[in-house]
Amino acid sequence: MRKTVATSLLLLLWLSVACRQTPPTPTPTATPTATNTPTPTPTSHAQTGLLAACPVDEQQHAMREGVALAWEQLPLQACYDLWLDLRSIEEGTYEGKGVITFLNGSGAPLADIVLRLYPNADVIYGGALELLSVAVDGVNRSGEAILDDGTAWRIPLDTPLAPDSLHTLHVTFRGTLPVDFPADDIYGIFHLSRREPIAALANWYPMLAAWRNGAWDVRPVYAEGDAVVSLTSLYRVQVEHPPEWQIVSTGVALDETPTKKVLVSGPARDFTILASPAYRHHEQVVDGVRVHHWGFTDDTQLAESALRVAVDALRLFDERFGAYPYAELDAAAMPMQAAAGVEYPGLAIAAQNLYETEGGRRFLPVALAHEVAHQWWYAVVGSDVLAAPWQDEALTTFSSFLYFEVHDPSFYTQLLDVYRQRVEEFEARGAEPIAQPLAAFEGRGEAYGVVVYLKGALFFQALRERLGDEHFFAALQTYYREWQYRLAPPDALLNAFEEACACSLDAFYREWGVRQ
Ligand SMILES: [Zn+2]
Repeated sequence: MRKTVATSLLLLLWLSVACRQTPPTPTPTATPTATNTPTPTPTSHAQTGLLAACPVDEQQHAMREGVALAWEQLPLQACYDLWLDLRSIEEGTYEGKGVITFLNGSGAPLADIVLRLYPNADVIYGGALELLSVAVDGVNRSGEAILDDGTAWRIPLDTPLAPDSLHTLHVTFRGTLPVDFPADDIYGIFHLSRREPIAALANWYPMLAAWRNGAWDVRPVYAEGDAVVSLTSLYRVQVEHPPEWQIVSTGVALDETPTKKVLVSGPARDFTILASPAYRHHEQVVDGVRVHHWGFTDDTQLAESALRVAVDALRLFDERFGAYPYAELDAAAMPMQAAAGVEYPGLAIAAQNLYETEGGRRFLPVALAHEVAHQWWYAVVGSDVLAAPWQDEALTTFSSFLYFEVHDPSFYTQLLDVYRQRVEEFEARGAEPIAQPLAAFEGRGEAYGVVVYLKGALFFQALRERLGDEHFFAALQTYYREWQYRLAPPDALLNAFEEACACSLDAFYREWGVRQ
């Protein structure tokens, strides 16, 4: 019994590094607006132009049947029409080009444009993304790096871009992946592993920085986790690849040959690609969503059980939170360091080493249920993962409880016991509020894991007990519906519960430290 608890504890602490951010040094950030209703996006001429660049009839293929989108009302930043050449991927390099049709949704004239080149960060990514050329509205431009880590590139303009106007950026670029984990502080999200082999391409293209609170978001990449806070865009991506290499990505394929794939994303805040000639594939269609499992294990039973976790989690979260909007969901194995999993739009990724040991296999459903839940709380409803990491991580960790409550009740009980025990032990040294920015956890990895993931999940558990299921899930459904494809401030989530119960939860929120 003791041994079981000890083993579980180790595994659960491992979970606490899943999708984890490293505490950044404090940077000035604007306070999120405390509102419970998003500002509606007016249909504009520019939005119509953006949809002409990424036609709805193509994009619609990425959406689940029956999901009706008001495309003209979507809060879109851009249409990315990208071409990616992976024919040299076995050497760890690639080339790309594309047209980014971009809407100035800032509400003000823009004197510059900022592109993020995330793979240049030494930490997490450890690779290179070189911007070879950029033209704004057909005019070649030079730019300047504005962060020491090389991840932000500012392009000054002669004439400011008018509010609500549409512009094009033509870009060419080249990327280099680190090979076989040359450093301890990279995660494997932008990486070539020759063993399988597999190439992971997160944030492989120049991304527009998010425009938020009156400024471009140019916070640097920190030493762990995923630093990306991005706005929703539409993607059309053509990938040329070596024959036999399977492309697993955000979105769906419109067209494919043995060496080329044309993909569309629907509204998505990122576009991520995994490529491997060694993936073994299992799939199941559930309520109109094609769920895939891509793994390297030759244990068919293990692969099928991993697929079943993704299918069951999808079905459950669909029912509890609202419909998953995309036509496909890919659960995939990928070699990782220092994390058990990571999430991208349409992708729930579990670390390959979880498939390789008995302890790992016991933990695999925890990682998969967690990453599937991130489709609701990150991919569709976005939040500021640097300023309020608890908002998606605590809710996602709580959401994975729901999976075990239904599908493995004895593990669910064990999970709650271990979480409570761990938080109690930690808080014997002093209680901490859940709602703290990553900066507050700098150099305190244990505190981050326990406070944000474990205590955060227990907060939602306590809130559920207090409100009862009807009000609790009604609030989550409202939050999910109203903030789809947007970045929700923390109060949007907290207020949704108060509105559902028509009661004040202020004292309760302060007691748990989710509202200051
Ligand atoms: Zn997570």
